[in-house]
This record gives sequence, C-alpha cells and structure tokens, in this order.
Amino acid sequence: MTAQIIDGSAISKTIIEELKQEVARLKEDHGVVPCLVTILVGNDSASQVYVRSKIKMCNYLGILSKQIDLPEETSEEELLKVIKQLNVDPSIHGILVQVPLPKHIKENKVLFAIDPDKDVDGFHPTNVGRMVIGEPVFLPCTPHGVQVLLQRSNIETKGAHVVVVGRSNIVGKPVANIMVQKALGANATVTICHSATKDIASITRQADILIVAMGKPKYITADMVKDGVVVIDVGVNQIGISPAGKRILCGDVDFENVKEKASYITPVPGGVGPMTIAMLMDNTVRSAKIKYNLD
Ligand code: NAP
Repeated sequence: MTAQIIDGSAISKTIIEELKQEVARLKEDHGVVPCLVTILVGNDSASQVYVRSKIKMCNYLGILSKQIDLPEETSEEELLKVIKQLNVDPSIHGILVQVPLPKHIKENKVLFAIDPDKDVDGFHPTNVGRMVIGEPVFLPCTPHGVQVLLQRSNIETKGAHVVVVGRSNIVGKPVANIMVQKALGANATVTICHSATKDIASITRQADILIVAMGKPKYITADMVKDGVVVIDVGVNQIGISPAGKRILCGDVDFENVKEKASYITPVPGGVGPMTIAMLMDNTVRSAKIKYNLD
C-alpha cells in the first residue's frame, strides 16, 4: 500500500479562502473588522519571520493587524503593562505574544496575563480547562489543525485508537485531549507516549491514527507502524541547508518508508505546518464574532 498524501497546504488554502469570505461578510453585514495584535520582544530572526507571515495573512484576509515590537531589554513588568492595556481595548479581538521570550521574562506569567477572551493561541489555563471539559472556545492552533486535517480528509476518528507520541503543552497534551472528547472529529481511544514510555514501538504499532510530535528527525520507522495506519507528523526538524541557502526540513517520521505502509500520511513540509496559521486566523475571526454575539 502506498499512502494518500494529506495535503496540508491545499486544505489550509481552502480554509483561508473560506475565512476571507467570512471576514468580508462580517464587515459588510455588521461593520465588524477582526483585529489581531502581535507582540514581538527582541530580535529573534525566526520569530520575526513567523510574525511577518501572520501579519501578511491578516492583510490578505482583511483582518486588521497591529504589530508591537519591543526591545530585547523590555522588563517583564513593562510587557505585562502592555498586555493589560490591550486586554481592555475593545477594538482588539486577539493578542498573540510571540515565543520564545527573552530569558529574563517568565513565559507563563505573560501568557497567563492575556485576557482568555482574546487568547487566540489557546494557551491560557482557562482555555486549556475549557478544552479539557469539552467546552472549547479557542483551541490551540497546531493541535486543532491536526483535528481539522483529519476531518477534511474524511478520516474517521470515532472509536479509532489514536496514539500520540509527545506530551508537550503546545502539541502532545492538547491534541490527545481534543481527540478524546465525546465530539465530532474526536471520540477516539487515546494513548500518549513520551520519553519514559517502555517499548514505544509495541504501542505505535497498535495505532489506527498515529500523531507524532517529538522533535526527533525520522524517529518513527516503518517497522513501528501497522499496515493502513494514518500518520500525522507534527515534527519540523532542520537537517541541513540546500546549496541555494534554503533550510532542509524533515518530520519525526521516516516519510519515504512509512508511506509504503500507511493509508494516509502528512508530508513535512506541507502537512500540519500550514494549518497552524489558518487556525490562528480562525480563532481571531471567532473572537470578533463572539464579542458581537455573531457566533
Ligand atoms: P517538545 O516540547 O520538545 O516535546 C517533545 C515531546 O516528545 C516530549 O513530550 C518528549 O517526552 C517526547 N519525546 C522526545 N523524545 C522521545 C523519545 N525518544 N521517545 C518518546 N518520546 C519522546 O516539542 P513540541 O513543542 O511538542 O514540538 C514537537 C515537534 O513539533 C517539533 O519538531 C516542533 O518543531 C514541531 N512543531 C510543529 C508545529 C507546526 O507545525 N506548526 C507547531 C509546534 C511544534 P518527555 O515529555 O518525556 O520529554
């Protein structure tokens, strides 16, 4: 069997076009323009690229975006003050603090200071709690992107054994929590593996759907999966630089060999990656709709 490739770039493009229409309707019918503020502290070049791509996407969609650039030496107190002001500004629907933050600033303290109603990244404990009890408002973007990829590929999750490898707060734990909910696009039996898991291959081999978020290049090999498995590879690992100076990326799954056994598989790049920004935009539009009782 050779797997069908789940084209995350194409699925994300479809979602973006749907959102573009929704943003236009919101403006035309209700005079509402969603607004996302991005805060960047310091000069991390990767973070600058991420923020720029978010702003570019906002512009494409007709979402208002405001960028706040703060110097590396900004204190935690100063950053918290900026967030406090944005929290009470009624024209702003989403606040995104780009991580990583400089070492002298406690990341959680900052993320937890964001008004949960504007927490479009879905990292605030209130939103994490809502997700766990099955009353989600803003789901974290990458895990939600995984769910939407499965749904839009018509892959049945109900009753499936979903094995998640990785238990980070931004991918592994939330994706497992989303998959276990008694809800459409979920309702799975979920097993979570991590670095202390014994004989990991014996568990990954049981997966109907295998979601991998480890940060270990090509760790999941063909002998670790069963025939017909659906593989969602969240990993993004840089394994070199091309002669043209471009980053060479691979996932946590040995794509070339695993695709010969799987029924569906996401590539890296072009799988989960493009979904994250689409889900962020979706959360921002949702936040504006909730504010004006249009959800
Ligand atoms: P992370 O915080 O480093 O977590 C990695 C997880 O993998 C940990 O739970 C760790 O276990 C587990 N792990 C590591 N080695 C293992 C092993 N040999 N056996 C079993 N489990 C192992 O990473 P993350 O933030 O979740 O990100 C994971 C990957 O996804 C990275 O490549 C990252 O770049 C990528 N990512 C992509 C997107 C996107 O596409 N938009 C978004 C976020 C992340 P312990 O908990 O026991 O240490």
